[in-house]
Amino acid sequence: MYILLDIKKDCSLVIPISNPEKLGGLKTVNFFLVKQEKSLSLIDAGYNTDSHWEALNLALNQNGLVLQDLTEIILTHHHIDHVGLVDRIVDAHPIPVYASPLSIPRLKRDKDFMELRVEFFEKLYYEMGCGETGEKQIAYLKKALLRNKGKAMRAEITAITDNEFLGFTILEVPGHSPDQLAFLDQQRKQLFAGDLLIEHISSNAIVEPDENGSRLPTISQQIDSLNKCAAFHIDSVFPGHGAVIQDPKALIHKRLERIEEKSELILRYIQSGHSTANEIAQVLYKNTYNEQFSLVMSEIIGHLDYLEAKKKVTMKKLQSICHYHVTV
Ligand SMILES: [Zn+2]
Repeated sequence: MYILLDIKKDCSLVIPISNPEKLGGLKTVNFFLVKQEKSLSLIDAGYNTDSHWEALNLALNQNGLVLQDLTEIILTHHHIDHVGLVDRIVDAHPIPVYASPLSIPRLKRDKDFMELRVEFFEKLYYEMGCGETGEKQIAYLKKALLRNKGKAMRAEITAITDNEFLGFTILEVPGHSPDQLAFLDQQRKQLFAGDLLIEHISSNAIVEPDENGSRLPTISQQIDSLNKCAAFHIDSVFPGHGAVIQDPKALIHKRLERIEEKSELILRYIQSGHSTANEIAQVLYKNTYNEQFSLVMSEIIGHLDYLEAKKKVTMKKLQSICHYHVTV
């Protein structure tokens, strides 16, 4: 038996937004209760706020359940809006927490990895020609590293290493984050996809280092992850934000097309003489460059890597700065 708790129409559990202005375009933060014969799993765990805690308890109570009925927490990826309540739940009711092995150093804020990550961005922003804005961002990251030192997840995390887990087929779907997993119920044709696919906005591919400090090819990963899901027959995608997706194939097609269009646009900027990632970011994202610097740079760098992989551009370093030119 398998029951998706029907709290709000199609979603098993949609947590109302406590502070929409902070969420920007995300609309809602979704996390899901999935009841099976012998388990009651929580997929993702929202923000660590009182309103999300209350919403979780309300959803349980409205379905004749209590927190103590939860049997485990499963995480799609390590981002702060997906893992917030984990420690609060586990403190009140000790249950296992499962995530990708790649989530663990990030959630545990492993000292070596966190330092390597800051070094990675320091070098990256320098090489991409970001100058003072890049330096400011690094100063912010270094401060955040100190400030968040004690904010590691306390709960023990068990790595999901099997292809099948709790009745779900586990799909690795990196791109938005290196550790992102999607949980597929092949029988019900339902996919819990984290932030892989969101109906009302394109999910960002966010540039990150791997465990050894090498840059991940995030746009290529995003394309592969979307294609991976398109290969399955899926009726509904339960996303991390916004509405349930009822025609995922059409949306995946749209997102893949948009990626190609964006790549072509960036190629045209290079053609017209903008050769560094920073120059392209400044002309393409005039209004958001300062405010959303790291996301804007992620987008441009991801696409430059993608164009380079497709041999449409070549990169040459001039005084340690990466310059891109259209391949002739
Ligand atoms: Zn995310």
